[in-house]
Amino acid sequence: MNYEELGLRVGLEIHQQLDTERKLFCHCKPDLVEEDEEDVFQRRLRPVRSELGEVDIAALFEWKKGRTYIYHAPRSRSCLVEADEEPPHEADRESIIIALAMAKAFNSKIVDEVHVMRKMVIDGSNTSGFQRTMLVALEGSVNVDGKEIGIETICVEEDAARKLKEEGKFVHFKLDRLGIPLIEIATAPDIRSPQEAKRVALRIGQMLRLTRKVKRGIGTIRQDLNVSIEGGAKTEIKGVQKLEIIDKVVEYEVIRQLKLLEIRDELKKRGVTKEEILSQLMTDVTDILKDSKSKIVKRALKSGAGAFAIKLPKFKGLLGKEVQPGRRFGTELADYARFWAGVGGIIHSDELPKYGITEEVEEIKERLGCEEQDAFVLVLAPGPEAREALKAVKERAAVALEGVPEETRAANPDGTTRFLRPRPGAARMYPETDVPPITITEDMLKKAEAIKPKNPAELIKELMTIYKLPKDMAEKMISSVRFDLAYRLVKKYHGKLHSTIVVRTVVDTLKELEREGIEVERIKDEHIEEVLDKVAEGKVAKEAIPDILKKVAEGSTVEKAIKELGLDKEIDVEKVVREVIEKYKDEIEKRGAQRSFGFVMGKVMAELRGKVDGKVVAQTVKKVLEEMENR
Ligand SMILES: [Zn+2]
Repeated sequence: MNYEELGLRVGLEIHQQLDTERKLFCHCKPDLVEEDEEDVFQRRLRPVRSELGEVDIAALFEWKKGRTYIYHAPRSRSCLVEADEEPPHEADRESIIIALAMAKAFNSKIVDEVHVMRKMVIDGSNTSGFQRTMLVALEGSVNVDGKEIGIETICVEEDAARKLKEEGKFVHFKLDRLGIPLIEIATAPDIRSPQEAKRVALRIGQMLRLTRKVKRGIGTIRQDLNVSIEGGAKTEIKGVQKLEIIDKVVEYEVIRQLKLLEIRDELKKRGVTKEEILSQLMTDVTDILKDSKSKIVKRALKSGAGAFAIKLPKFKGLLGKEVQPGRRFGTELADYARFWAGVGGIIHSDELPKYGITEEVEEIKERLGCEEQDAFVLVLAPGPEAREALKAVKERAAVALEGVPEETRAANPDGTTRFLRPRPGAARMYPETDVPPITITEDMLKKAEAIKPKNPAELIKELMTIYKLPKDMAEKMISSVRFDLAYRLVKKYHGKLHSTIVVRTVVDTLKELEREGIEVERIKDEHIEEVLDKVAEGKVAKEAIPDILKKVAEGSTVEKAIKELGLDKEIDVEKVVREVIEKYKDEIEKRGAQRSFGFVMGKVMAELRGKVDGKVVAQTVKKVLEEMENR
């Protein structure tokens, strides 16, 4: 796909949990707990007018759903602030300092005074009905592979409560996550391809980690994407948790917008109008389906639901059109029906016969007055819900004539997206009066300077040119939790030990041991340094590093581990080589000495691995085999 020609524009919003001492607006510990004593209480939220007097449509809708929110408040990780029973405490300065450090790295303009704003939250994930957010800096940029990408804003905000489960109209949330400080970095829509989106996200993620002040692991970083193409619409995609799928999410969104534009053009060609679509009325078709053999129909009718249908004029073939892998235009309509009416889904004529609905199809078409090019949508639900659902379907179908609707969507794990809610209006923000503004002081700026991340591109260049590290290892190193240690040791052993050995040990070996289930917490920085000292002094072969560290993890000291592994004895390599050759004399003579190098190496290394450097063994084997050859 030629993304430039399509006019692709992508902006990223990266949300990363900060690793601070306390939560943003109270003094609770900012981490998650599994088991804890907890209090449980419930709330219903209602939308309030903003200071401009507007009620947010999405907020109003959530309220209309009549949901009750059950909050689980773990005593060790929440207080009256999370329960919204006590005013927020002053904002956490450490969080602001981390944001200032990022602002410096992006050359952003830092505000003089940080003001706390309330952003309306409409899904119950916040007990107060809003999220507090603070703008810290704006108008910066980041250089990614030679291109400047604008960083529009840097904010600090509170994380939402985490959803545990949904049971009918009851939604359960846990309050440990509520109030954990997040940094929100929003780029300008300067990104022009899916791959670039991924690279920019990776780069910003790397820089965040280089402050050493952010949390790690799944769920600690989330990215939202704004994607649009020429003639399409700005779509906001929420909650991409894995960096690896960002390019896919963008690519699939481009496909979706293109397909929606194709559908628009086809509908125009077929000559259908908005009025024609919107004037369609819901028709009761329960009697047609009352003796249906279809299991889902039977189950629905038995539960008291009815069967209702609506004609979509000239939509035949379009409802079944794939807009994203595994998702059809009909799926988009179903999302709307689910969202606005809470129904389980819809059935559309392009997918019929299916679900055991067969001979009834023609009869429904006849009842609705469908002609050759017309389609219909069927909903199995009680009358009022069905009416809402089909109204939503009809309205979404009418928007198809305009192309792509402005929506907020949620990312699925496979990179496709689903409708989440309409795009919220500007009425969602208003000032928080319970928390005084914070003046940015010289002292805060000084502290920020101390944790300001180095420029990753420059770091990688330094590691590659001065320390001769391959690019992939340099990248891996700067993204590692143990970057500090690796960087210090690479510098320390420069000229004595190849940097790849250092990075492999600090980054890969520890990770591999961890994967084997070994408790690497016992391996301290000093242990790693001591082992590398031995390797640098030529006392231990680099191959022995994992075995020594394994022993250390089991509680041994480095010295003891070396003794236990028998690495402290002088080894007569030549003697071992000669013994092996003697043992396999017949085989070697059969092959010829020259062609036996690999064979002999394998046998000798089986005995000496970890004890002697492979290079020394290779030299000795070569020497002895040459002697044999010349004999
Ligand atoms: Zn608290």
